Amino acid sequence: MKASLAIFKRNFESPLPEQHTCDVLIVGSGAGGFSAAITARHHGLDVLMVEKEPLFGGTTCYSAGVIWIPNSAQARAAGIDDSADAALTYLESIAGNRLDRARATAFLAAAPEMLAFLEANTHARYGLVPTWADYEPELPGGSNGGRSLAPEPFDGRRLGKRFDQLRPPLQSMMLMGGMMVGRTDLPHLYNMLRVPRSAWHAMGMFARYGVDRINWKRGTRLANGNALIAALALTAQEKGIPLWLGAPVVRLVVEDGRVGGSIVQRDGRETHVVARRGVVLASGGFAGDDALKARLYGHVAAGREHRSLPPATNSGDGIRLATVQGAGFHDDVHHAAAWTPVSLLPQPDGPPLPFPHFLDRGKPGYISVDRRGKRFVNEAKSYHVFVPAMIEACRGDERTECWNICDHAAIRRWGLGAAPPRPGRLKPYIESGYVVSADTPEELARRIGIDPAGLAATIRDYNAGARRGEDPQFGRGTDAYQRFNGAPGHAPNPCVAPLDRPPYYAVRLVPGDIGTFAGLATDVSARVLDQEGRVIDGLYAAGNDMASVMGGTYPGAGITIGPALTFGYVAGRHLAKN
Ligand SMILES: Cc1cc2nc3c(=O)[nH]c(=O)nc-3n(C[C@H](O)[C@H](O)[C@H](O)COP(=O)(O)OP(=O)(O)OC[C@H]3O[C@@H](n4cnc5c(N)ncnc54)[C@H](O)[C@@H]3O)c2cc1C
Repeated sequence: MKASLAIFKRNFESPLPEQHTCDVLIVGSGAGGFSAAITARHHGLDVLMVEKEPLFGGTTCYSAGVIWIPNSAQARAAGIDDSADAALTYLESIAGNRLDRARATAFLAAAPEMLAFLEANTHARYGLVPTWADYEPELPGGSNGGRSLAPEPFDGRRLGKRFDQLRPPLQSMMLMGGMMVGRTDLPHLYNMLRVPRSAWHAMGMFARYGVDRINWKRGTRLANGNALIAALALTAQEKGIPLWLGAPVVRLVVEDGRVGGSIVQRDGRETHVVARRGVVLASGGFAGDDALKARLYGHVAAGREHRSLPPATNSGDGIRLATVQGAGFHDDVHHAAAWTPVSLLPQPDGPPLPFPHFLDRGKPGYISVDRRGKRFVNEAKSYHVFVPAMIEACRGDERTECWNICDHAAIRRWGLGAAPPRPGRLKPYIESGYVVSADTPEELARRIGIDPAGLAATIRDYNAGARRGEDPQFGRGTDAYQRFNGAPGHAPNPCVAPLDRPPYYAVRLVPGDIGTFAGLATDVSARVLDQEGRVIDGLYAAGNDMASVMGGTYPGAGITIGPALTFGYVAGRHLAKN
């Protein structure tokens, strides 16, 4: 009520803002926003989407677009034996008492329905990756594959002029400045010099890219999160959902305790958007809010380096808009964000580009070490496990950093961070200082400023086990997730090989995040709750504005976009019924 008075007072003092009326206002154009918008529209509601940035798609456009959806129709068709109960058992074992059982149950019930809805009513298509295991598959209820699905490629040309408004992927993750590489392309690129079918696939990609660049700023063969958002944006366009770009929501309008719209800045003016049914906050969390990060990320509070990968404009707007109206902020999560180690790619004409290390750490021929030259974690575990181990290893040190190290055989086979494998060129990455190389472990250690004797001893000890395909210190390759990311066919252990082919190479890693986990308190219908746990009428949240349904853990590939799409769908459906 207080807020409503504030708005009326303001309206008396200054000219009334322009007004626009709809049933549902969606704040943000990532996975959560599009899913809510399309679902509400499907049920006959008049929907408006507003996006702060001149580009749409948010962090979802940077992502691999993978979704974690246990018991999907795709999994059942592939004969995978799974159930919501098994998935709930798994979530309970990984998140423990920080799992909100009611919300997790609601997610598991709605997720397969959501996916079937998207496949039937949008251009988005998902394929099961049947061997993509959960990240802790040995825990009760864990799966050795069948819960993670990847988006199929999408032809960006279908968006017409809107293609230029689609946020491109992270610059460091495109080849030749503008070519996307999807999950199914990767094995072909790794094998293009060995397998004729892969050479053919790669040639097709390069040829298409060459033709694209005649007419477009970047490649139009979209993969990953770009494919997902492009497909949803085309559907939204066809369904007549307006999307205002460069139009941030700056305030919620609350009357008699009910959220009935927002003030949106557009073309330098304020527009009062009346939303008869309600507002969905899907503004992507707070990875761009330095103050909140300093409060919630221990290492940032301690002044340590940290790189957030989401756009800096994901600055916690949704969370702030809601909490000033009394919404609850749920930070009782295992981790306030989804962590990933990041390397920094120097640029001749600007700040370095962050590159997330999802894959190379777990391949055979790589280890990660601290400044003592010592390993500190099973490198083949997930990125979300790797970063806390790095922070712990560096606790008493001046900086929080480690080095990913490999030999010549490994770097030419799999690359190192942004440095590509053969036939890509390594030289530019060495010349820029991104990759450091030396003929011996001791010399490499000296060049990167870590303990030479420590690194030499670590490599010697690691190699002794690795020659037998073992990692006695940390047990690399001991579960299906680690083996999934290893080298297919590399026996006896796809995650382990000695580092014994000089020169040796190193790249520096620091902590980073791919999005936030702490967020607004919500109920099973994605409605925002106040600090006493009561529903705030007319206010919903989806995506990273909502506190992680995984309790701040990272159980498997796609555990943020799967719930973002699902709770967007749940919100859209609830808005239509109420
Ligand atoms: C490299 C990388 C790979 C990843 N891969 C995966 C993956 O494969 N699977 C997975 O599950 N997760 C993945 N993630 C994480 C995932 O991308 C995010 O968690 C997810 O996309 C967040 O979706 P969202 O809808 O909440 O927000 P976003 O996609 O970030 O969209 C939010 C939008 O809201 C807009 N906005 C902000 N404030 C306002 C405002 N005031 N008014 C209007 N609009 C506003 C923003 O500009 C943005 O466009 C990855 C992340 C990265 C960086």
